[in-house]
Amino acid sequence: MNPPPPPFPPPQAPDMFSMATLTLMIVITFIMQGSLIAFSSRIIKAYKGVREASVATFALAFGYLVLAIVGTPDALSGLLSNLLNICGYFLIYLAICRFTDQPYNRLLVFAFLPIAVLALILTAFLHLRWLPLVNVTLIVGAVFNIASVLVLYRSDHRRYKLSAYLTAIPLLIYALVLLGRLIINYLSPAEIAPSPSNSIVFSVMALFILSYLWTAGFILMVSQRLQSDVHDLAMNDALTRVRNRRAMQDMLDFEMRRVEKEVRDFSIILIDIDHFKRVNDTHGHDIGDLVLQWFASTLQHGMRVQDVVARWGGEEFLILLPDTLLEEAMEIAERLRSTIASSTVQFPSGSLQITFSAGVSSSTTSRSVDKLYKIADQALYIAKHTRNRVVSQEDIPVKPV
Ligand code: GH3
Ligand code: MG
Ligand code: MG
Repeated sequence: MNPPPPPFPPPQAPDMFSMATLTLMIVITFIMQGSLIAFSSRIIKAYKGVREASVATFALAFGYLVLAIVGTPDALSGLLSNLLNICGYFLIYLAICRFTDQPYNRLLVFAFLPIAVLALILTAFLHLRWLPLVNVTLIVGAVFNIASVLVLYRSDHRRYKLSAYLTAIPLLIYALVLLGRLIINYLSPAEIAPSPSNSIVFSVMALFILSYLWTAGFILMVSQRLQSDVHDLAMNDALTRVRNRRAMQDMLDFEMRRVEKEVRDFSIILIDIDHFKRVNDTHGHDIGDLVLQWFASTLQHGMRVQDVVARWGGEEFLILLPDTLLEEAMEIAERLRSTIASSTVQFPSGSLQITFSAGVSSSTTSRSVDKLYKIADQALYIAKHTRNRVVSQEDIPVKPV
């Protein structure tokens, strides 16, 4: 006797990996990612390449949207979808080159890309058996992704190192996925069927996850770079690129706390360029700026790694010498004075020589930053009597009580 039929047909497992579901998933994820990058390009206009990255992501979204709309693509829709795809991979490469300030490879852009587009058009209409349409896109995608990884690898991305890796690794893995699919397509051409084969499902799932990661990496690169630039602007002097007064004040406070805790004395040298107004009056303000830049960089080159040079004001500089007693600080200041006095500043219309005066004080006599500065300022005032001179706190006449 046959068993009675079940009251309801047994539930069918939903076809999760139908082509329509997969393509729709990709379209949605790319639109969301593209919108995120577009949003960051709206608020952070300082960097090149962000807009290209957003257009690249939308190009990929539209490439898959064409597939989602037509289902089984004909020659024209297949061509359009694949063209948008290679446009997306090319724009990701361009975005990374522009963001990292590196030149793009001319051979890739002016030879490989046009040949790839031509090959796409030919294969779409001629149905070349040895070069299916999708294989052209797989090759182009892999090549541009690897090129993007190389650009990230070569770029001087100290300021956004971690996020550059986070962008490069998924791009590299996806390039390998594309190459793997290309090999499978040649080994078993049945895999290029409209219904999703295992290799298509795998590569689309990989794209779903990896594209999310490289977009996150790219947005992190933008924000890491922004954070570093803001920090740079807040801490450094725009003209001379040495620390600014605010950064130096923080460092002085930090050193003073260290003095209290660890009994490690430090010294400061307060420097003022002599007759700087004359430089401006004789050679113009622009040359004055040039002299300030030269002066700051010469000071910095003459210092030890632990020492910090800051622009304190107009033509005044302050040098912090950690773990340094007055005597050694005086030797350093004297060495700097003689280096500057014996150097010549070259500029397009001529050259000139400058000198500076300096006051040196040490935390041995004072436990307050304000007082330490005042003492250095008094010493500098005395140095200005003759100029081109370094005066120590010990040379300040003791005020009668
Ligand atoms: P002294 O030997 O007494 O220090 O003479 P001085 O001419 O250097 O002194 P003073 O403080 O009177 O002049 C400083 C000049 O530095 C005045 C100002 O125009 C110039 N200066 C300040 N900041 C800048 C700057 O950013 N660029 C240029 N080019 N000049 C600056
Ligand atoms: Mg001055
Ligand atoms: Mg001066």
